[in-house]
Amino acid sequence: MLKSGLNSNQSLKWMAKELKLRISYKFMKDCLFCKIVKGEVKTGVVLEAPKALAFKDINPVAAVHILIVPKKHIDTATSITSSDGADLVAMHQAAKKLVEKLKLTSYRLAYNGGKYQHVPHLHMHLLSGDQVQWDRL
Ligand code: AMP
Ligand code: ZN
Repeated sequence: MLKSGLNSNQSLKWMAKELKLRISYKFMKDCLFCKIVKGEVKTGVVLEAPKALAFKDINPVAAVHILIVPKKHIDTATSITSSDGADLVAMHQAAKKLVEKLKLTSYRLAYNGGKYQHVPHLHMHLLSGDQVQWDRL
């Protein structure tokens, strides 16, 4: 067992999946999360609201790893403008509902940007669990 809580086989599997995903983003001409919002790409949706969608991360780094996105395409946190207020409120209301539904007593909400962000559609990571692999986020 590694310090991360994963054994070396699980760790290699996670890395191989991550590499495949990151290569696929490079070749994708349309926005992946817009496709998920439109239902063109199927994934594990856990909550839908008029302006936000939440789905399970396909390569989780924690026991609870959910992505919350605005239905409207916004590139990244630093491209948010005052006209996006209702979308951001909807994302945080979705987070609140999930925290309550899953009875999470401790959790973190995180945004990646720049080279840490791989999918260019704003998304908030909702993370919870004893062994969050922060270095992989
Ligand atoms: P980031 O690195 O902050 O851009 O996060 C992108 C996240 O999207 C990663 O944690 C991926 O595992 C996740 N992801 C990629 N494709 C999908 C998908 N089809 N369904 C759910 N999560 C996905
Ligand atoms: Zn998009």
